[in-house]
Amino acid sequence: MLDADFFRRWMTATAASVDREAERLTALDSPIGDADHGSNLQRGFTAVTAALEKESPGTPGGVLTLAGRQLISTVGGASGPLYGTLLRRTGKALGDADEVSAEQLTEALRAGVDAVMTLGGAAPGDKTMIDALVPAVDALGESFAAARAAAEEGAVATTPLQARKGRASYVGERSIGHQDPGATSSALLIAGLAEAAGE
Ligand code: ADP
Ligand code: MG
Repeated sequence: MLDADFFRRWMTATAASVDREAERLTALDSPIGDADHGSNLQRGFTAVTAALEKESPGTPGGVLTLAGRQLISTVGGASGPLYGTLLRRTGKALGDADEVSAEQLTEALRAGVDAVMTLGGAAPGDKTMIDALVPAVDALGESFAAARAAAEEGAVATTPLQARKGRASYVGERSIGHQDPGATSSALLIAGLAEAAGE
């Protein structure tokens, strides 16, 4: 079973990798965006870890809804409301249980990803974070490590696609040949989940 500490470890592991990879995320956002994705998420996850330390929520749902609220209020750009919705909706689906199973987490995360698709209107293949998140949720039933590998593969597979959503869609065909920054950060989020699970 997964308790609030597991979810806290997920968020702090993600914050650490976002810190490490911030320059890379911003560099990916430079040719097909406005070169702010790394700094956006760094600001957001710094706020997430600070809020978790201060408020110390006692349930998995509490950790994720607090994290989602922080991302919505601190991350500028498209990715803030989208990641915020992902975590808030996932947290809401987990309810107020003290511990949840991996199966419950998988179903909750699926609800979270569905909410991101509803909010942003992106489908798989549009070259967004969805291209990493959907395969990750599909593989999560197998293992955390499988989810991490699927997210990473999904992010890499955005390279030959033309963007149909978000700022990258403005550059049209010139988005082809660049890996999507949001799919790349989503792979970091799922890697953080695997790290929290010790996989
Ligand atoms: P902005 O584009 O406002 O500068 P960021 O640079 O922080 O925001 O985030 C860009 C990322 O957000 C993209 O790489 C993409 O993965 C994701 N994104 C943008 N629009 C959408 C959308 N409608 N649905 C899903 N993801 C999106
Ligand atoms: Mg940007």
